[in-house]
Amino acid sequence: MSPLPQTADMLLHPDWIVPVVPRGAILENYSLALTKDRITALLPRREAHAIDARQVLELPGHALLPGLINCHGHAAMSLLRGYADDQPLMPWLERHIWPAEAAHVSAQFVRDGTELAIAEMIRSGTTTFSDMYFFPDSCAATAERLGMRCQITFPVLDFPTIWARDPDQYISKGLALRDDIKHSKLVSLGFGPHAPYTVSEINLVKVATLAAELDVAVQIHLHETASEVLLAVEQHGERPLDTLHRLGLLGPRTQCVHMTDLGDQDIALLASTGAHVVHCPQSNMKLASGACPVSKLLDKGVNVALGTDSAASNNGLNLFGEIKAAALLAKLQSREATALPAAEALAMATINGARALGMEDSIGSLEVGKQADLIAVDLSGPETQPLYNPLSQLVYASNGSQVSHSWIAGEMVMAQRQLTHIDLPALAARTRGWQARISNTAGHEK
Ligand SMILES: [Zn+2]
Repeated sequence: MSPLPQTADMLLHPDWIVPVVPRGAILENYSLALTKDRITALLPRREAHAIDARQVLELPGHALLPGLINCHGHAAMSLLRGYADDQPLMPWLERHIWPAEAAHVSAQFVRDGTELAIAEMIRSGTTTFSDMYFFPDSCAATAERLGMRCQITFPVLDFPTIWARDPDQYISKGLALRDDIKHSKLVSLGFGPHAPYTVSEINLVKVATLAAELDVAVQIHLHETASEVLLAVEQHGERPLDTLHRLGLLGPRTQCVHMTDLGDQDIALLASTGAHVVHCPQSNMKLASGACPVSKLLDKGVNVALGTDSAASNNGLNLFGEIKAAALLAKLQSREATALPAAEALAMATINGARALGMEDSIGSLEVGKQADLIAVDLSGPETQPLYNPLSQLVYASNGSQVSHSWIAGEMVMAQRQLTHIDLPALAARTRGWQARISNTAGHEK
């Protein structure tokens, strides 16, 4: 037990606190104190009045919970939301997304697209996101400026793009960014080799070696579709997951995104290596890619986190939608209504996400000593009434628009749904400018 602090910067009095650790706990009539960037007390309200707080916030009808963690996305692609829908993965990429990116992506595109993404994420309860995209320096600067916590896994590809001409340049530019942000409290950096079908073995080995040396994360799209796995077996005689293992890329630093096509042997390999899975249910459903066997993975002890993927394939970055989709999909897939209960689904979007990003000691749950990354959700509206169980309302009845307040590292980034760091009308005007340019991309059918 840590001693009770006598003072605090802020004292919050919600009706319920859902700390996520311990799993399923709902604390009624509790209060939370924070000072600077940390949670300093979590205690019954009758004892909290002994704390002399500079600011006191009454939150009647609200639940307080850890900020949500979006473990996979390409934030700037929010500028391509709704640009091309209703296509399978490869034609969607080859005929629509890649040509639009080649024509328009720049540091400014990434700055504005990332700001649009962060505005949406904060308004729907996310306080940490992971990003894999070109001009990661622009994403890092935007996240830092807007007070958003972020893991950047900079892209590595075999072929040239607007950001780098060859694999060595992707890596050298990424490592230079790592130097630039080494003192950041909000932004961390890892490697983002795009996928085994876009990064050759020699470059995957380079990534594995450097990531181990620097002790940083690796995030990779993996087993996104059954045809990706089938093609790899035909071409290399090996499943992509086995290739990664052979190259030394599977371990507790590795975040495997999608993982829809998994056999029992794949699940056993993930469990034995400690690699994490990032499940993106809505993107997988929209692109008809498949469904990650979440219940089987969790049963075998594999850590499964949640991601939205980009707004171009989702079409939003709302983790409340993802939590509900994950719970429903797991039930449908296993034909078991008991699969992935509410507390487990919420854990995937919080503490499991923190674990996947290697940040379990600082975020992902409301515990004394952790970073003050938290959200208040107003459960008093008709959509979440009557209220028998706040956890059930959060997972099955909330849609993100009930998030009223948000703090990241103790800083209030949203109060009563007003963003404190983002000028929404100015952002909307810049977004309309991009829409006008992007909708005129040559060859794009409207
Ligand atoms: Zn992705």
